[in-house]
Amino acid sequence: MASGDFFNWLFEAAQGGPPDPLAPVKEAPRPSAAADDSRRDMERRYERLRLVTMAMWALLKERSGLTEADLQKYVNQVDLIDGKLDGRLTREKGIIECAKCHRRVLKTALACVYCGEPNGQGDSFLGT
Ligand SMILES: [Zn+2]
Repeated sequence: MASGDFFNWLFEAAQGGPPDPLAPVKEAPRPSAAADDSRRDMERRYERLRLVTMAMWALLKERSGLTEADLQKYVNQVDLIDGKLDGRLTREKGIIECAKCHRRVLKTALACVYCGEPNGQGDSFLGT
């Protein structure tokens, strides 16, 4: 797999892939202005996350000699934290709610990535 292919696959899969050209056209209800703002904010955050993740991976590869296969192996290991290799972490097993800000964080995180609240519920060594 060429450099960057794995990330393209990863992020394209997260977007659900290309639309089905044979699917019937539906009239979508007009979203409210607040829903539009929320969607734009999520898209901006998603693109920023994608950019930073790709930059971190490029840096790590350059400095460490790790390969795309190494990354795939670790993605699969993290994916299996919830017991299913399905490309996501379900809330039931791998995700918990932060006690302070109530956002979803990995059960294995030492602290909430949003507010820094220490994670008193997770097992830092789960899946290692
Ligand atoms: Zn938090």
